[in-house]
Amino acid sequence: MPDIDKIKDRIDEIFEEIVQIRRNIHMNPELSRYEEQTSILIQNRLKKLNIDCTGNIAGFGVTGTVYGKDKNHGIGIRAEMDALPINEMSDSAFKSKNKGIMHACGHDVHTAVLLGTAQILNELRDELPLSVRFIFQPAEETVGGAKPMIEQGCLENPKISSVISLHVEPSLPVGHVQFTSGIANAASCEFYVTVYGKPCHGAHPYEGVDPLLPACNMVTAIQSIITRRMNPTDPSLITVGKFSSGTKNNIIPGKSEFSGIIRTLDIKNRDFIKEKIKELCGSIATAYGASCKIRFCDSYPPLKNDEQLFALLLNTMRKIIGTEKVAVNTMPCMGADDFAYFCHGCRGLCYNIGTKNPCDKEVYPLHSDKFNPDEECIRTGILSEVASVLAIMNDERKIWAEL
Ligand SMILES: [Zn+2]
Ligand SMILES: [Zn+2]
Repeated sequence: MPDIDKIKDRIDEIFEEIVQIRRNIHMNPELSRYEEQTSILIQNRLKKLNIDCTGNIAGFGVTGTVYGKDKNHGIGIRAEMDALPINEMSDSAFKSKNKGIMHACGHDVHTAVLLGTAQILNELRDELPLSVRFIFQPAEETVGGAKPMIEQGCLENPKISSVISLHVEPSLPVGHVQFTSGIANAASCEFYVTVYGKPCHGAHPYEGVDPLLPACNMVTAIQSIITRRMNPTDPSLITVGKFSSGTKNNIIPGKSEFSGIIRTLDIKNRDFIKEKIKELCGSIATAYGASCKIRFCDSYPPLKNDEQLFALLLNTMRKIIGTEKVAVNTMPCMGADDFAYFCHGCRGLCYNIGTKNPCDKEVYPLHSDKFNPDEECIRTGILSEVASVLAIMNDERKIWAEL
């Protein structure tokens, strides 16, 4: 069994260099599907470490592989690469140089941590019973790079049996980790509603058909699906985030449009809400003499953490960083994450690492223009990924007695 204290020492030795890599990625953020320079940086680093790598998977996705004794079977670790369309307002010395684009979800940290993990596991390769696949995934914040990367074989050769991923969590103290049992993230679906009327003078509404009034009613009526048609012990939500209509205060417009998202913890509830939105909006439009068109766009499925991995990694991290620094969460988050696709057909687990500095007066959440994680989280990130991979290999091959 590789000695965990030696691994910790080695992480301390490479820490500063990995922090510099993170700052470099942070200063040069790229939007979903445009992660070209980030992809080049990752590939250059993997090549420098003599790690086998492949680029341009499902856009700018990259995989790296360290071969252990069994070159046909392995464990996967995934990190996202993309940034967000946000103008950074933090005053850090390594602020984004790309105006209007910012790593506000910590994907710069995730990528840097995985490069550190790759370095450590590569140094341990002679002791690894199985191989390891490092998966750098594009476009998590928009169309999702996980599904196309899987379709293009990122879980094959070696055959990947388990995949882990971490996400930074600003509400959790730095140095801590958090595991969620069962469903960790919601299923998502976007919807777009257009209500058609007949334009006329605002002083003579009876000469036309007002689309705005039924559209406003639809926005309020669809909330009753959640409060009156769904079981309150099984969480789900509808958010309308955009509404637009009209050009001037005395003109009845020809159409009104609104769009939003549905979040549920299973696909059955998502489909039920879609049906009810169709029914309600259709009936309201008819009642007002208007008509409407509704378009749904299913996004990610729910993310369900594997129960065996949850128990195994919880136990491992309690031994390695101390029980008091390992939190257990049983509440799912209504956010969506396309890591969900890695959990289908594989054992998958996504966990959180804390980024909150105890001296910070204010905590900025994910997607905030001032999000500024404590970089000490990189140490915990690498240690937790390396220890998790070793624990999973041990679980699958029973190589070491003590883990
Ligand atoms: Zn995000
Ligand atoms: Zn994220």
